Amino acid sequence: MPDAMVDARASHATSNANALEVDVAVVGAGFAGLYLLHRLRKAGFTVVALEEADDVGGTWYWNRYPGARCDIQTIDYSYTFDPELERAWQWSEKYATQPEILRYFGFVADRYDLRRDIRFHTKVTAANWDQASERWRLTTDHGAAVSCRYYIMATGCLSAPKPPEIDGVKDFTGEVYFTGRWPHQPVNLAGKRVAVIGTGSSGIQSIPLIAEQAAQLTVFQRTPNFALPAHNGASPTDRMALLEGDRAGYREQARWSLTGVPWPQQLAVSWQLSDAERRERFEKAWAAGDLVYILTQLWADQGVDVDGNARVAELFREKIRAIVKDPETAAALTPHDHPFGAKRPCLDTNYYATYNRPNVTLVNLRQEPIKQITASSIKTDKRTVDVDVIVFATGFDAMTGAIMAVHPITGRGGKSLSEVWANGPQSYLGLTVAGFPNLFMITGPGSPSVLSNMAVSIEQHVDWVVDRLIALREKGFTTIEATETAQAGWARHMADCSMLTLHRLANTWYTGANVPGKAQGVMPYTGGVGPYRSICNEIVSGGMLGFKLSGQNVAEQCNDGEVVRLQPDVRLVLNMLEEMKLPPIESFGAQGARDFVAQFNASRPAGRPVGEVVDGTLPGPDAALPYRLYRPATPGPHPIVVYFHGGGWVLGDEQSDDPFCRDMCRRTGMIVVSVGYRHAPEHRFPTAAEDGFAAARWIAEHAGELGGQGGPVLVAGWSAGANIAAVTCQLARDRGGPEIAGQLLVCPVTDCTFDRPSYNENAAGYFLTRSLMYWFWDIYCSPADRTDPRASPLRGKLKGLPPAFVVTCEFDPLRDEGIAYAEALAAAGVPVEQLNARGHFHSSFTMVDVVITGVSGRVQMAEALRRFAGLPPGSRQDNEDVRRGRTAPRHEIDAAAK
Ligand SMILES: Cc1cc2nc3c(=O)[nH]c(=O)nc-3n(C[C@H](O)[C@H](O)[C@H](O)COP(=O)(O)OP(=O)(O)OC[C@H]3O[C@@H](n4cnc5c(N)ncnc54)[C@H](O)[C@@H]3O)c2cc1C
Repeated sequence: MPDAMVDARASHATSNANALEVDVAVVGAGFAGLYLLHRLRKAGFTVVALEEADDVGGTWYWNRYPGARCDIQTIDYSYTFDPELERAWQWSEKYATQPEILRYFGFVADRYDLRRDIRFHTKVTAANWDQASERWRLTTDHGAAVSCRYYIMATGCLSAPKPPEIDGVKDFTGEVYFTGRWPHQPVNLAGKRVAVIGTGSSGIQSIPLIAEQAAQLTVFQRTPNFALPAHNGASPTDRMALLEGDRAGYREQARWSLTGVPWPQQLAVSWQLSDAERRERFEKAWAAGDLVYILTQLWADQGVDVDGNARVAELFREKIRAIVKDPETAAALTPHDHPFGAKRPCLDTNYYATYNRPNVTLVNLRQEPIKQITASSIKTDKRTVDVDVIVFATGFDAMTGAIMAVHPITGRGGKSLSEVWANGPQSYLGLTVAGFPNLFMITGPGSPSVLSNMAVSIEQHVDWVVDRLIALREKGFTTIEATETAQAGWARHMADCSMLTLHRLANTWYTGANVPGKAQGVMPYTGGVGPYRSICNEIVSGGMLGFKLSGQNVAEQCNDGEVVRLQPDVRLVLNMLEEMKLPPIESFGAQGARDFVAQFNASRPAGRPVGEVVDGTLPGPDAALPYRLYRPATPGPHPIVVYFHGGGWVLGDEQSDDPFCRDMCRRTGMIVVSVGYRHAPEHRFPTAAEDGFAAARWIAEHAGELGGQGGPVLVAGWSAGANIAAVTCQLARDRGGPEIAGQLLVCPVTDCTFDRPSYNENAAGYFLTRSLMYWFWDIYCSPADRTDPRASPLRGKLKGLPPAFVVTCEFDPLRDEGIAYAEALAAAGVPVEQLNARGHFHSSFTMVDVVITGVSGRVQMAEALRRFAGLPPGSRQDNEDVRRGRTAPRHEIDAAAK
């Protein structure tokens, strides 16, 4: 049925003396509320929308301040659910102004005849779940209460303005305006002395225009922000061509992108680019005037790595210094307290240049806080500024403000949402809350929301919710509620995701830091729009995983569980591998598998620079063995780590774990010598083990020639390489040296049996499969030899071995034999530390700069090696990482694994 016809149908709400009865009540008539209304009516639900304002538009109804515009290009910040609507509306500018966007919402409301089901001037003041009737009852400040089966809060992430925290506001006798509640009539600021308090997005958009009118403008700034010139005008021709060339394809790409705007994933990392190349990219982004572009298209590590980010931030700071003439003002306007993008950057027109005007003064509240507002002035520690008008651009109580303003919201058992959220918002997907049946939030805390193009996120949320309501109705269910398990799992996944980006390193409205007393934590989902969409879809295909469904005439259904147990970046890697539909590696044969690994490695990000990389050979037991030595940039001599690569004794070489060796070299400040031991099937057991031992001995004896410290060496390895490292320690103990100060075993092969649970639990789907391990063993070692401790070190004598740091990953077939080895070492009196990495897979730690959540584990590995070598705790950067929560302390990882 065409949309227009559907929407012409009446919505059959009924009312009784006490309350209006509907299937669904929607609160809010902004971007989300309007689309909800349209879809719900189309699906045949009776629905009412309740809106405090007297018209549609939400954000764009309230924010009428001078200069208000969107900061995502308008061609992307639009509804996409109806191609005819897309054809019927043309945006006039790259970033439309508030009046134009408001006209758009009016146009949409008219086109689908939405206003007739919206009760304007109606604020929802409380909401209570009535268990007996399985309905929500909404109290309003105007008109009848509403009784509904489903209660959907489309109340907006940025719709509760934050009250000013300054004494004496009430004493001020001049004009006071709030950007988030700007009057509908024109405000005349001409010839007036105006103060603007706040330099977030609204402040930055309005300040240049206010400066043009006012006699004198004083800007009171607490936190400087990064602002990019919008270069507004017509929509860029290249973006328009992309959109118009394949509108459906463009929209679909946006839906699966990380931000909700289709830009490709950047692959080059900052340290691979020269200064000139980085500058060129930055200048291009500056000229493009597009926030999503500058936030994602410079280099791959800009949003995830402190160093990669610092390079953008510094180029930005140069621009500010170049534009603002007065050095003191420029310094005050230059952000140093947060990574670029960790706080929402702004899009401006002439913002920094405005401070060159003679009628504009900046007051840096960090140096002179506001003490008081009097009848006619604002007083700081250092000055009194007489003003006629104060404009508060102090932002919003974001994400939770409008939800909590409906008070109380009581769910099952009379539990209040404000109690449940006392220590920060808890949700499943940012859409639902355990204990609050049939309540949905659109772009609630825990969803990508404000970290995305909200148009895309809103449409996804609305579609998902409405599709669920339709499915419930079809199956006779009348309630839906998230389980505690699912909600706790989502909180864990959110925390894992927040380790991916730098948002956690800034005190911002994303984290609740702008509102005194608000619980702090990254509120939006940082895992990206596309991954979020796929998770929502998986919940449905997994039988409504994490939801309890009930209805009077159907059996209750509860498919309890956590939707994402993998680390977010591990999930991306595994999904990507699955999409590649690769045949099993073992099906290539040994040489084919080697070629495949070489090709795979060629496509990964290059490892980071170290002081020096030297290739050489060393004498093995009966052949020369190649090695690659990584030397730190610091003056030597350094302790030496002898490293053995992974590859099931069949694949790889001394270069194949290059990024990991570089990372260990940088983090430990030690020389890492990666040994090219010989492989099966050409050289079967015990060649690899004997090569490893011989190499360690030779390296220890020639430490001085290699530029290393004399004395004990350390050994380390991953997978089969960790098997060789463990064996080397046993042989060194039994054969009179070399002296080994410690062993780092990452996902080690320690035993030849396949009957531990992890072999079954993680048999397939996590890259290293059970059948691949069978193949490796078969090629390397005959069954008769497998119990030899040189193949299965778990079967050897463990007493007297050097201290060990053993790393195991939750989703690895080898997990349990690694744990068994650590436990056996401990039982034999060997000092052992263990890292059970939750949500990680066999390759997590060697995929440096791909599996970013592996950084905390690698920091701990490096620290362990330093301890073994008797060095003080690690580099400043690592300690900084730990201090800033970049890494999870080991006990947390262990606790989570348990
Ligand atoms: C100045 C500004 C610029 C922005 N620019 C962009 C941009 O470029 N791109 C982008 O993606 N996002 C942008 N945003 C975010 C913007 O909020 C969203 O894009 C989007 O408009 C949100 O739509 P919504 O319907 O979810 O909420 P809103 O538009 O906030 O609408 C919520 C509505 O609910 C009503 N309401 C709330 N509580 C109650 C209650 N208790 N009872 C009755 N009614 C209630 C409010 O009155 C409001 O009308 C911007 C935000 C601001 C403030």
